[in-house]
Amino acid sequence: MADTIAAISTAIGEAGIGIVRMSGKESLNIGSKVFKGNKIENLKDGRNRELLYGHIIDKSKDQIIDEVLIVYMKGPYTYTREDMVEIYCHGGIISVKKVLELLLNEGAKLAEPGEFTKRAFLNGRLDLSQAEAVIDIIRSKTDKSFQVSLDQLEGSLSKSIKEIRNILLEMIAHVEVSIDFPDEDIEEVAYEDLENSGRIVMEKIEALLNTAERGKILRYGLNTVILGKPNVGKSSLLNAILRENRAIVTDIPGTTRDIIEEYVNIDGIPLKIIDTAGIRDTEDLVEKIGVDRAKETVEKADLVIVVFDVSRELSEEDYHIIELIQDKKAIILLNKTDLPNKYDEKFLKELVRDKEIITTSMTTGLGIDILEKSIKNMFYSGEVEIFSDTVVTNIRHKNQLEKAYKNIADGLTAIKSYVPLDCIEVDLKNCWENLGEISGDTVGEDILDKIFSEFCIGK
Ligand code: GDP
Ligand code: ZN
Repeated sequence: MADTIAAISTAIGEAGIGIVRMSGKESLNIGSKVFKGNKIENLKDGRNRELLYGHIIDKSKDQIIDEVLIVYMKGPYTYTREDMVEIYCHGGIISVKKVLELLLNEGAKLAEPGEFTKRAFLNGRLDLSQAEAVIDIIRSKTDKSFQVSLDQLEGSLSKSIKEIRNILLEMIAHVEVSIDFPDEDIEEVAYEDLENSGRIVMEKIEALLNTAERGKILRYGLNTVILGKPNVGKSSLLNAILRENRAIVTDIPGTTRDIIEEYVNIDGIPLKIIDTAGIRDTEDLVEKIGVDRAKETVEKADLVIVVFDVSRELSEEDYHIIELIQDKKAIILLNKTDLPNKYDEKFLKELVRDKEIITTSMTTGLGIDILEKSIKNMFYSGEVEIFSDTVVTNIRHKNQLEKAYKNIADGLTAIKSYVPLDCIEVDLKNCWENLGEISGDTVGEDILDKIFSEFCIGK
């Protein structure tokens, strides 16, 4: 961390401005060497956080590189908590690259991916889960996932983790006192208290874990499959959804995969609709990719939308589809309700039992809004303020929480069966450490490297 690092922090490409930034002790020195201001000539003569106008100059060649704005920000009230300099150049590739080269020539080191944020973490400005939130913010695809990441950056997850770890720490202290003073009265109280606290810890971890499913959806999109025999209106449905909801990511042309993924955004919930080749033309999923593949696709889905055509009678294929979705979260669409009804609706209702049924017509647009509402309700169970609580979106956090859960569960079992306290202490400490890896309090160097290598350069 002794080095002063520099990097281009904006995306490379055509743009109005591009930002090059530096962090470290030499920032001001290096900045002064390359900058010549109009009003205030030397960067060192400017005030902290004062934006100066002037030029970046390669003094060895007496050559102007770019016309810029520059600011010096004195640590510790900066992103990295170190001294920082930011240079606002013209956008495009050349200017920022030349400025960066000059800084490197003057002694700055090229920053590794995520190194600015890593320094912010190592200098105690962010904990690890907050640092990871920075990546998520950069990668957010919808307002809601952005909001969740922002909450995490603000410390919502850190706060929950800290609370749980504090309870654990108290329990561990309790245990140690009882080990040191093995008075029988004290010990009996200890077991009872431990059980209560242990249960609270377990419930809190469980609550966080319960949000992980929702978090996964926010991050990766809700895996949705549209299922139905040929000609029932699957393509029409997909088009209707795509028409009304801006696609965030359109599929990349020329992909060789036989399954195409479409992303749509329904009120902030990213839906990844799995569109088999069969959905596009008039062939049916089961027929096209075979029963096994269809089964597999359905099994992986978070949500299945099944389409039936009420203008035709129920057929073998329909029964087959109903079988496939018995244990899935599924919404049933009775489509083509604008046509004469040849369906035994009562019979079908018995077949699909608890599943929600919506009558639709892709021709008139009937029912699309109800479908969207029910997708939302399904995953948020009608909560109005969706993100009032912490949501776990990060797979690493989820894994740590699972480990912590297992350890506290083991600990509780041990407590209930009056296992010697030093054995119980092992479980408690493990749990405490598992959680500490989320906030970064007990995390190893290798994990840190892995996490920060996911960042882009300049962040
Ligand atoms: P898929 O094979 O399941 O993808 O079905 P398509 O979406 O390609 O639709 C098959 C045919 O049914 C097309 O001619 C559609 O225009 C028509 N269709 C789809 N939905 C409706 C509907 O609600 N009412 C009517 N009358 N026709 C529909
Ligand atoms: Zn189709």
